[in-house]
Amino acid sequence: MAENRFCRLRIPRSVYEGMIWHALAEQPLECCGLLAGVIRDDGIGEVRLRYPLLNAAASPVEFESEPQSHFSADRDIRRQGWEVLAVYHSHPTSGPLPSRKDLERSWSVDVVNFIVSLATSPPTVRGWWLKKETYYEAEWTITPGRAV
Ligand SMILES: [Zn+2]
Repeated sequence: MAENRFCRLRIPRSVYEGMIWHALAEQPLECCGLLAGVIRDDGIGEVRLRYPLLNAAASPVEFESEPQSHFSADRDIRRQGWEVLAVYHSHPTSGPLPSRKDLERSWSVDVVNFIVSLATSPPTVRGWWLKKETYYEAEWTITPGRAV
């Protein structure tokens, strides 16, 4: 996958659990957020922090990041010297596969797209690279410990 900005993501367990917690808290609406961190010289993306965003769509079947929350997250990420490595959102009642709308979304071409599905118990999390016409599974691992 040479065209991707990084080959694999490492996610602190606390960040991973935070995504699931956020999805459950916003149920029955979709939640959305960003994962930011650094890309190491060996091509591995290391997530440092999760940035929950407000879902302006306030919908059970779609999300639209609320501009002000998105802007302040971006500003903080830049100030830390980090970059956005992944975005996430939830599917309260459907599986963790990208919807047609998810594929059409332009903000997420060069980051991993996590989908937290609450259709299963416990929730299922899968990460995707979304390309215009297609999508494929991203490589990621959970690392022990807390985010910074
Ligand atoms: Zn979706």
